[in-house]
Amino acid sequence: MPINESLVQDIVQEVMAKMQIADASSGKHGVFTDMNDAIAAAKKAQQTVRRMSMDQREKIISIIRRKTKENAEIMARMGVDETGMGNVGDKILKHHLVAEKVPGTEDIKTEALSGDRGLTLVEMGPFGVIGAITPCTNPSETVLCNAMGMIAGGNTVVFNPHPAAIKTSIFAINLVNEASIEAGGPDNVACTVENPTLDTSNVMMKHKDIPLIAATGGPGVVTAVLSSGKRGIGAGAGNPPALVDETADIRKAAQDIVNGCTFDNNLPCIAEKEIVAIDSIADELLHYMVTEQGCYVINKEEQEKLISVVLANGRLNRKCVGRSAKVLLSMIGIDVPDNIRCITFEGEKEHPLIATELMMPILGIVRAKDFSDAVEKAVWLEHGNRHSAHIHSKNVDRITTYARAIDTAILVKNGPSYAALGFGGESICTFTIASRTGEGLTSASTFTKRRRCVMQDSLCIR
Ligand code: NAD
Repeated sequence: MPINESLVQDIVQEVMAKMQIADASSGKHGVFTDMNDAIAAAKKAQQTVRRMSMDQREKIISIIRRKTKENAEIMARMGVDETGMGNVGDKILKHHLVAEKVPGTEDIKTEALSGDRGLTLVEMGPFGVIGAITPCTNPSETVLCNAMGMIAGGNTVVFNPHPAAIKTSIFAINLVNEASIEAGGPDNVACTVENPTLDTSNVMMKHKDIPLIAATGGPGVVTAVLSSGKRGIGAGAGNPPALVDETADIRKAAQDIVNGCTFDNNLPCIAEKEIVAIDSIADELLHYMVTEQGCYVINKEEQEKLISVVLANGRLNRKCVGRSAKVLLSMIGIDVPDNIRCITFEGEKEHPLIATELMMPILGIVRAKDFSDAVEKAVWLEHGNRHSAHIHSKNVDRITTYARAIDTAILVKNGPSYAALGFGGESICTFTIASRTGEGLTSASTFTKRRRCVMQDSLCIR
């Protein structure tokens, strides 16, 4: 490659960005070597937070928002560098979504009832110190949205992040503490350990000062948390199907589905993982996906090669998760131009690249003979996770039928999956969607407990 001025500038920029990241990650507020110490520090901080006014809590949240925006690119680059997953551009957008659309204290609402025998308030109080287990797929995003909701609710939090994303997670935890200090609050409102392991996670799950655990990850961690004997919020795995029927705007469906599927290289748990298309429109859909949306069709032999790489020995190959279509294709010896962003093919619903939650921009298409067949196949593919599903249809009755049958926490109609996170859709943002335990999109109120305050025979002035 010839060395010219623009190449030199690119290199200088990259080195400076890396130096900035190294510099920024040196801040370590809230980081301990021992999980017991982390919990003790968070407990001490919670004694201050619980006495803070709602305005003071909101001030912390608003500074977290500002710092998240200011550091969006650093966290995006750090996440990609550390985990090798996703892409910087989409991760920047995800951090802006966190900054703008994760609810704060306004999410906590008081209920009141008054009558002949007085006045009762039902107020949402903090649990105390919440334990949070976070994934490597959206590491800083999850730490930030969990911390914002939990602090808004009057709690502090101890994280056991995924070890593969510990630097990025520590950066976000440090940011939260710096925001608290800047707002006049305590340090250690969010804590963690330098080296999170299953052992530190166990200490957290069994600790007497942790009344609630929020787990964001695959089936293993959610089952572990729900077996801990503590109250658990389980945000587990998904395998969201996108159903397309003959009443849909097929060209737009192709665009929405590929946009949703390729966002951050398919890392979000809500992202389209496969398509179920009614036979009569399947060819048209594939045509638009290939000619307008950068999809590359692989044949049977290439599918076998891809299976042997991404599901080596039947297990998900972590080195393939969150990689771009171009990189995945290069792993099976196919070189494609940069505009290729998704891999596609047709197959039965049992096809391993269709039935498995891959978290890669690979969209298998399953044909269905009619709408009922499509619903049946989509429900099977969702595997009872009750997480997310999507549909492209103009027929309201069919949308209703699908919604009832698949029974998921999220169902996006006629849009890309990320509309459910507030990106181009009416929604709050969170990266913890409690599918298994039913809270759905988590926010500050999810991290509070209902407390009844009863005044007998007074203060009813009707
Ligand atoms: P993962 O399950 O490998 O890890 C998630 C976290 O759980 C990590 O911190 C990990 O160290 C911990 N963990 C794993 N097994 C554990 C056990 N037995 N006991 C205690 N801790 C354990 O998941 P990942 O690869 O980081 O993330 C991808 C998975 O998470 C996908 O299945 C995805 O769908 C899911 N996810 C769900 C949501 C949601 O909101 N529902 C959000 C993001 C990711």
